[in-house]
Amino acid sequence: MDTADVIVIGGGTGGYSTALRAAALGLDVVLVERDKVGGTCLHRGCIPSKAMLHAAELVDGIAEARERWGVKATLDAVDWSALVATRDDIVARNHRGVEAHLAHAGVRVVRGSARLTGARSVRVDGVGGVDGRGGAEGVRDFAARRGIVLATGSRPRTLPTLTPDGRRVVTSDDALFAPSLPASVLVLGGGAIGVEYASFHRSMGAQVTLVEAADRIVPLEDADVSRHLTRGLKKRGVDVQTGARLLDAEVRADGVRARVRTARGETRVIDAERLLVAVGRVPVTDGLDLAAAGLSTDERGFVAPADWNRLETAVPGVHVVGDLLPPPSLGLAHASFAEGLLVAETLAGVPSVPVDHAAVPRVTYSSPQTASVGLSEAEARARGHEVDVNTMPLTAVAKGMVHGQGGMVKVVAEAGGGRVLGVHLVGPHVSEMIAESQLIVGWDAQPDDVARHVHAHPTLSEAVGEAFLTLAGRGLHQQ
Ligand SMILES: Cc1cc2nc3c(=O)[nH]c(=O)nc-3n(C[C@H](O)[C@H](O)[C@H](O)COP(=O)(O)OP(=O)(O)OC[C@H]3O[C@@H](n4cnc5c(N)ncnc54)[C@H](O)[C@@H]3O)c2cc1C
Repeated sequence: MDTADVIVIGGGTGGYSTALRAAALGLDVVLVERDKVGGTCLHRGCIPSKAMLHAAELVDGIAEARERWGVKATLDAVDWSALVATRDDIVARNHRGVEAHLAHAGVRVVRGSARLTGARSVRVDGVGGVDGRGGAEGVRDFAARRGIVLATGSRPRTLPTLTPDGRRVVTSDDALFAPSLPASVLVLGGGAIGVEYASFHRSMGAQVTLVEAADRIVPLEDADVSRHLTRGLKKRGVDVQTGARLLDAEVRADGVRARVRTARGETRVIDAERLLVAVGRVPVTDGLDLAAAGLSTDERGFVAPADWNRLETAVPGVHVVGDLLPPPSLGLAHASFAEGLLVAETLAGVPSVPVDHAAVPRVTYSSPQTASVGLSEAEARARGHEVDVNTMPLTAVAKGMVHGQGGMVKVVAEAGGGRVLGVHLVGPHVSEMIAESQLIVGWDAQPDDVARHVHAHPTLSEAVGEAFLTLAGRGLHQQ
């Protein structure tokens, strides 16, 4: 039996960040991955989707150039295979980068499927070698001196009545490998992934219907975020149906015919070339044999830590990171990076800071984008806070007018000049603007602390500065 200080199962963002940090702290680390290091985020999630959304932004820019700025530009066509080639090149380069980092750090990457054989032992099936150098196929056993980290992530959720066939009924995984761009899409699910794909396909010229069962899209965000995002998507021609449920879907030769019960109780028939199912993700634990280590999943399939400050399960030495964690973890890559650092430092016995999930930013990279951190207004009130709220349109600052896409900044703070509890942004480039707000919320700043710092003019961030100036009683353009 081979031994290591730490065995990490799963080489996605949660797993490889744990491995890199643990190795940097001098631990001998084995990382087991059955597919490709980088996981969902790099190969099927964050990176390919954002590459595609960047192309979508360029397409939208051509229309804006023509319609607003007198630039006589026209769009000939989108060459999907060229777009895919660029996207895949970005993914491949990042993949090589992650592999190189792991090799450089001395992490032993083992190719194969891992299952637990005890609280400190793991069996790997189908090993193709250590460090990618090839080697004996078959089964190998490993024992962990300090601990095991479960980082097996998640996969797309589907509905019992809807079986993705990868062609007409697709998940976000399938959508990446589609042979062409569809002329029409029905997106089921108005969370971040559904909204991003709806936005992408609309930019690419498709007829898009977005169906969400809750009474608003991005339902975990502040209600004003949902309102502004819905308005922005509708303005772009996306048919947003909230409070609506899929009754059934029939796969036909040329697409899918879906019946949807609308919020008004009517039955609507929607024909689309493709139905994209984006109704959430489920944790992956199959084949892991949690029971062998004395563990089990919760009723939703997550592996819950007994100690959130160490992300350690009820079995000492077995830790969990990433999408395998239940809420309040967020199913986001950057949350899993932070969780990986915490677990590696905990296993190395060096001081570490628990992850404050409430202060982790959340972004939807659609057009318009949304970005937020901290509590929504409703959450703050539900927790008993008396709050001051200021909402500022992005068009109230000159750069917002230049962009001409609407949007807003909303700040929720404790009444009477107290702590900032949440910041919520909608509009162009807000994914790049949320960083200052995460420090504001994370450092328990008050509006007055922020208001004394000057924002560059003219920028979209000025709207954030202005919103805080107003809350601090010093508003220039807003009283
Ligand atoms: C379309 C889409 C867009 C997204 N966009 C964003 C975004 O913009 N920003 C963001 O922060 N997050 C985004 N996410 C979420 C993000 O991808 C996940 O939160 C993140 O990948 C979770 O990392 P993880 O390490 O927990 O799991 P994963 O990345 O899923 O990695 C788990 C790994 O474990 C391996 N594995 C599983 N079981 C075993 C086993 N038994 N043995 C060996 N290996 C195993 C798998 O092969 C996989 O590589 C997006 C997700 C999707 C689907």
